[in-house]
Amino acid sequence: MIDAQCYYEGRWHEGRQGRRFSVENPATNATIGSAVAAGVEDLDLVIQSAVRAGASWAESPPERRGRLLQAACQAIMENQEDLARLLTTEEGKSLREARSEVAYGARFFEYYAGESVRIFGDTMPSASGSRSIWTVKVPIGVSALITPWNYPFAMICRKMAPALAAGCTVVVKPAEQTPLIAAQLFRVLEKVNLPPGTVNLITGDPEIIGPALVGDSRIRKVSFTGSTSVGRLILRGAAANITSVSLELGGNAPFIIFDDASVEDAVNGIMACKFRNAGQICVATNRIYVQRGVAAAVQDRLSEAVQHLRVGNGLDDDAQMGPLINREAVKKVAQHVADAVQRGATVAVGGEVREGVGFFYMPTVIAGVQDTMQLAQEETFGPVAPLLIFDAEEEVFGRANQTPYGLAAYVYTRDLGRAMRASKTLEFGMVGINDPVPSLVEAPIGGLKASGLGREGGHEGVLEFLETKYVSTRF
Ligand code: NAD
Repeated sequence: MIDAQCYYEGRWHEGRQGRRFSVENPATNATIGSAVAAGVEDLDLVIQSAVRAGASWAESPPERRGRLLQAACQAIMENQEDLARLLTTEEGKSLREARSEVAYGARFFEYYAGESVRIFGDTMPSASGSRSIWTVKVPIGVSALITPWNYPFAMICRKMAPALAAGCTVVVKPAEQTPLIAAQLFRVLEKVNLPPGTVNLITGDPEIIGPALVGDSRIRKVSFTGSTSVGRLILRGAAANITSVSLELGGNAPFIIFDDASVEDAVNGIMACKFRNAGQICVATNRIYVQRGVAAAVQDRLSEAVQHLRVGNGLDDDAQMGPLINREAVKKVAQHVADAVQRGATVAVGGEVREGVGFFYMPTVIAGVQDTMQLAQEETFGPVAPLLIFDAEEEVFGRANQTPYGLAAYVYTRDLGRAMRASKTLEFGMVGINDPVPSLVEAPIGGLKASGLGREGGHEGVLEFLETKYVSTRF
């Protein structure tokens, strides 16, 4: 059993009310531990801790911050295996994927270790010639980092590393499904000796601590990753104190295969982009548009590959795909498939819940899907590959853009002109051309429209935690 407590002032604390909630392994339904169900009193202490540490962290030499971040990367990698095992046990993904999530998270610390010494402003000529004008970048202040369960390790790192590099102290609030891996990250970070109060952790019921955290006037930044519906609540809550907000929200990614593409590459791309983490990825394709000429070939090859996916407990060496996070997730996927079948689509592979222990839904390929079906309209967040047919380029770009979301889009083609037109026309924050996994540490990740505000990763990621101050001197 693993127990997670709140972390502040550089120490672990039980909640004031002594309440806890339990955490379940989605592959076995066994209880694996529990975490503090914090209340607003605990939250106050956690925020106080971040505020107290704020000024000296903001003024600390960037080089020192960089060294600490580099040490954090190293400490994470030294504990990669233990972290990965816990991640799989709590979230369900295969051990191979969990190891790669841990390494991905560590790389954010490494990248932002370098970035911490590259934060600078500009000088500019004044129009009148009688002034000197310059800007400096200053840390925005105490930052609340609210993260989802699907990449519960990496999503914390992707926010925490740039925030610390910028000189901000942080309060982390992980998802209630995955508090244990968050606490384990904090245990690893203890080895790095960050000043007390620099990083703080609170776990519990989001409806109790979420609005109080977002609406607290001491919090100057909320960096949120999660669903669009909760993103809207965050934005509303942040209005009270005009708190800066970054939102990484849900998606409805099209994956477009033109008939000049390599069918083999495209199918490998779908396997990587759709079935990783059992399809529970914000950038997972939700609609696979296949040009009529290659539709049969894509369906055959994809069905073949999906049939061979080994489903099981992620801790088993040969499991390639694990369970969904909980019962509601399985219900939602089953409902989307039922809706499609009722309206004329056909299941080529899978299409069923795996009965017994754990929250498994079998990997599925479904053909004859229409734009109006739930599978194409809503984020399914499960291992279902829906195939839709198109004829012309203009038609498919129009259909792909027919969604309030705008996170990621994928295009498979060998035609350079078409690739360029796709990158221009598709209204998505990330466009992968013959690339199914564009979420790179060094690239600005984020969405357009209802998929969010702001960017994470790359140089732009650190800007989210900085403000520009401008100084004008007359002479
Ligand atoms: P969620 O919105 O239910 O929860 C996300 C976080 O918000 C959790 O920590 C939760 O406890 C917290 N929360 C819930 N209600 C809150 C409130 N009222 N105030 C403050 N915090 C609150 O999302 P989820 O189910 O954990 O994650 C899945 C969603 O996340 C999907 O829609 C997925 O697309 C999205 N996601 C997006 C990205 C991205 O980079 N854009 C990455 C991963 C996941």
